[in-house]
Amino acid sequence: MLFKVLSKDAFRRLVELLLDANEVVGPRVVGQDRPGKRRYQLLPIDRFEDMSLDYDKTEYSAKTYFLPFKEKLSSYAFEGDDWQQQIRYRIRPRAIVGLHACDINALVKLDKVLLKGDFPSPYYLSRRENTFVIGIDHDPCDNGFCASVGADIVSHGFDLFLTDLGDRYFVAIDSDRGFRVVNTVDIRDVTETDREEYMQVRNRIAGAFKTEVNIRNLPTVLDLEFESPVWDRWGDRCLSCGSCAAVCPTCYCYGVEERISMSFDESVKVKRLYSCNLLDFAMVAGDHNFRPTRASRLKYRYYHQHRGFTETYDEPKCVGCNRCGDTCLAGINPPELIADLEEEAAR
Ligand code: SF4
Ligand code: SF4
Repeated sequence: MLFKVLSKDAFRRLVELLLDANEVVGPRVVGQDRPGKRRYQLLPIDRFEDMSLDYDKTEYSAKTYFLPFKEKLSSYAFEGDDWQQQIRYRIRPRAIVGLHACDINALVKLDKVLLKGDFPSPYYLSRRENTFVIGIDHDPCDNGFCASVGADIVSHGFDLFLTDLGDRYFVAIDSDRGFRVVNTVDIRDVTETDREEYMQVRNRIAGAFKTEVNIRNLPTVLDLEFESPVWDRWGDRCLSCGSCAAVCPTCYCYGVEERISMSFDESVKVKRLYSCNLLDFAMVAGDHNFRPTRASRLKYRYYHQHRGFTETYDEPKCVGCNRCGDTCLAGINPPELIADLEEEAAR
């Protein structure tokens, strides 16, 4: 990784240059909640001023731009005994500005499954390859526990990553195209003062986390507590709405449906993201449901996040953003549920 320093004016210029040739997405204010706290979403911008780079958390994650909720995989045209398939990948270049470390780490985890797994997804690849990612450091958000799951810092998966040093940015460059783009504006080499101030900012952020979740022995605890009453306690509250998976930056489960026209001359194959908390997620032919209860479905969501993924990739799938906890109308959230589980195991 290479480090440089960029003035704030130069960064603005860089975003304006990106706007000339790309769709640019950044954090925007979309309203406020009842106590008057601002709400943010990652949305397309027209001008640099549209962004609020000092945001704490967006309600939806950047996943929306790589794994859209609904996506046409292919369409078919039938004629006589012949048929033609058409597949369109998204190739329009896009830049996402202002992603936090946890959201970039979420993309790195999706990469492991969707690019480096047994069945790489060309749809995800086309979006990932055509998206320029600029990350930014920030103070810990309310109830985020990314530090507990090792997602508060990021070392790859982005093009540029900024740390605010007041009048300038300390910039980590992690790709050739990042180097080329940053060189279109004025940058300079890092001095000893920049290095010292960067470390001070990093130490301040690292010391500011208030929410801690103990995941050190969590895969074992999950195995021990498979039949725990904890799952009924929390599962009985679950509304099976699926909102937690929709906002989660790392949930990628999906369903595929095929729609054929009444005239039988064309069809489309559509993919929709799905949630393991929905009633019919584990439903199979013959009307059998492998996870008929809310408790069993909630349990498996946690097992995928903290047990199954860890077994395959040596790290949890969860990046600790707590979006699922923020959005859940039943008040189900990882810090409290995992603490309950740990206490049950200790008892
Ligand atoms: S845990 Fe909460 S957000 Fe998720 S399905 Fe249940 S009620 Fe909905
Ligand atoms: S499980 Fe919850 S806390 Fe973890 S990454 Fe998903 S939304 Fe964030």
